[in-house]
Amino acid sequence: MQIVVDLTRCQGYAQCAFLAPEMFEMHGEEALLYHPAVPEGQRERVRQAAAACPVQAILLGEEVSPGAR
Ligand code: SF4
Repeated sequence: MQIVVDLTRCQGYAQCAFLAPEMFEMHGEEALLYHPAVPEGQRERVRQAAAACPVQAILLGEEVSPGAR
């Protein structure tokens, strides 16, 4: 699973950083840092974070890694 955050939409509400602190991190007031590749154990949190984002800036992709079916 992969994530892309549309940083032009992101308003720095930090809902995502609150719900999935290992994946999203606020850097200062508005800059969001995130990890694009979501490990297995973080999927549910990331889904919640994406659902909670007030501006739907978090896009989820079910990318399958090469070799996996
Ligand atoms: S919840 Fe959405 S708007 Fe808020 S910091 Fe995360 S991506 Fe940005």
